[in-house]
Amino acid sequence: MPDLAHHLPLMNERKVVIIGSGCAGLSAAIYSARANLSPLVIEGIQPGGQLGTTTTVENYPGYEHGVQGPDLMAIMKAQAARFGTEFLMDEVTAVRLDRRPFEIEVGGQTLRTASLIIATGASARMLGLPNEAKLIGRGVSTCATCDGAFFKGRRIVLVGGGDSAMEEALFLTRFGESVSVVHRRDKLRASRIMQDRALKNPKIRFAWYSVIEEILEKDGKVGGVVLRNVQTGEKTELPCEGLFVAIGHEPNTKLFRGALDTDEVGYLKTVNGTTATKIQGVFACGDAVDHRYRQAVTAAGSGCMAAIDAIRYLESLE
Ligand code: NAP
Repeated sequence: MPDLAHHLPLMNERKVVIIGSGCAGLSAAIYSARANLSPLVIEGIQPGGQLGTTTTVENYPGYEHGVQGPDLMAIMKAQAARFGTEFLMDEVTAVRLDRRPFEIEVGGQTLRTASLIIATGASARMLGLPNEAKLIGRGVSTCATCDGAFFKGRRIVLVGGGDSAMEEALFLTRFGESVSVVHRRDKLRASRIMQDRALKNPKIRFAWYSVIEEILEKDGKVGGVVLRNVQTGEKTELPCEGLFVAIGHEPNTKLFRGALDTDEVGYLKTVNGTTATKIQGVFACGDAVDHRYRQAVTAAGSGCMAAIDAIRYLESLE
């Protein structure tokens, strides 16, 4: 695949700029490139979004036997490049949406664009333990829907006390021999109904007032965790093969605060059933908007929607 990342100087007056190179951004690129809009994808410094750092993806339609996350992203990028998408591997430092064309500061230059597609995604909050990042795909996961099936008959530990944590713990009981929920308090943040379901499930146990002090490795994979009771300081070892971190996500939307509407967590608001934001010509898709589904296929679908919305917007200007 040709690497178009360094084809500078880039034309700095564009029809479509897409910020983000995960499933949403690259799907938006494929659609807008096929509409002859020569989109520019600003990839960030870690291209490929969340799938760029996962291992096997078994639920992306079209891959009967699964596909490696980074391979899937490389294919999407090549597909977008084939129709004339350009790529810039850099981080946007500022956007100015109060003028037309919109202005984007990246790599020390100012790009101008008639329309903007925001596909900056979200990042799962992590515990911050030294070997945690290295063990992603080797027992550590931030997505039960994606990775639960790899833990059939295994012992699973899950951290968190919110709705996501309870939902994921319940889902994981389909696969795991047991699911131990580790929570730093003795009260769950999750809604009553989710709490009740989790508390009643015989496969789910709770370690209250507990945090994970250390992830233990066995043959390069997760072999267990060391829990620390925050009240007594007591440490206990809990053997497990899977460690699911469900302590919330952060949408990557800081660049747009103040300019666009967000919910209280920072997810961008769009007009019902479309990808339009409150600024005409600015569209948002993928996990920067969606805290409910957060799947590769839903992100790709919303990227397609954003491109179609941008294409129609540009047509309306002509
Ligand atoms: P959340 O509500 O923010 O919960 C995060 C949980 O992780 C909290 O229990 C928090 O503990 C814990 N936590 C945070 N940082 C931690 C750390 N460093 N170490 C240990 N524990 C930590 O996030 P969420 O569960 O992802 O939910 C996000 C939003 O989506 C919520 O509004 C939720 O209601 C909604 N949601 C709804 C559904 C549903 O209705 N089915 C499903 C999923 C999500 P503390 O409680 O001690 O702060």
